Amino acid sequence: MSTLTLQQLTVGPLQENCWLLADPASGQAVLIDPGDEAERLLAAVDATGCTLTAIWLTHAHFDHVGGVAGVVAARPVPVWLHPADTVLYENAAASAARWGVVVENPPPADHPLAEGDRLQLGASTFLVWHLPGHAPGHVAFIGHELCFSGDVLFAGSIGRTDLPLCDPTAMLQSLQRLATLPTGTRVFPGHGASTTIGHELTANPFLRGAARPLGA
Ligand SMILES: [Zn+2]
Ligand SMILES: [Zn+2]
Repeated sequence: MSTLTLQQLTVGPLQENCWLLADPASGQAVLIDPGDEAERLLAAVDATGCTLTAIWLTHAHFDHVGGVAGVVAARPVPVWLHPADTVLYENAAASAARWGVVVENPPPADHPLAEGDRLQLGASTFLVWHLPGHAPGHVAFIGHELCFSGDVLFAGSIGRTDLPLCDPTAMLQSLQRLATLPTGTRVFPGHGASTTIGHELTANPFLRGAARPLGA
């Protein structure tokens, strides 16, 4: 983490966390889940003095991808997405409309993410874990004692498992997997405050196994 900087940018009507991860040593930055307010996100990138090099998506619910079109229109950077979420991705605008939210459909993703992929930001490497359940192509980005958990794990709670394409049993397995991370791992979720694996193992009934995802 020593050379990385991290900024939480909570955007849109669903208060989604976009994470701006920058590496001043290499001058590179990535946006994780630019869900809305593209202009504000780009201004935050510029304020780091770094150049945006990629968009990493944990999953393709509209609140996480609604800002992709605006960001890519201004900075044509590659978009990384697990292909199992392509259906959600291509229907983001229609899904948002059902919530009364207007977003632009994102351009096609450029790179398919898969379990075990290693993503590079300057000299830092982040491992891709495929964690289906909340969404079929949900992933987490893990490295340097950081975990970007999207809508799988929140502080004190977990993501919904009652939406179309959810799989409660897969969610249970994904949570069990996250529970194996070192307790000092800092967790940066798609909504709400950041936390640690150690804190969630004591405070979150879903992570310590005392409660199960709805439907599991
Ligand atoms: Zn979601
Ligand atoms: Zn979300």
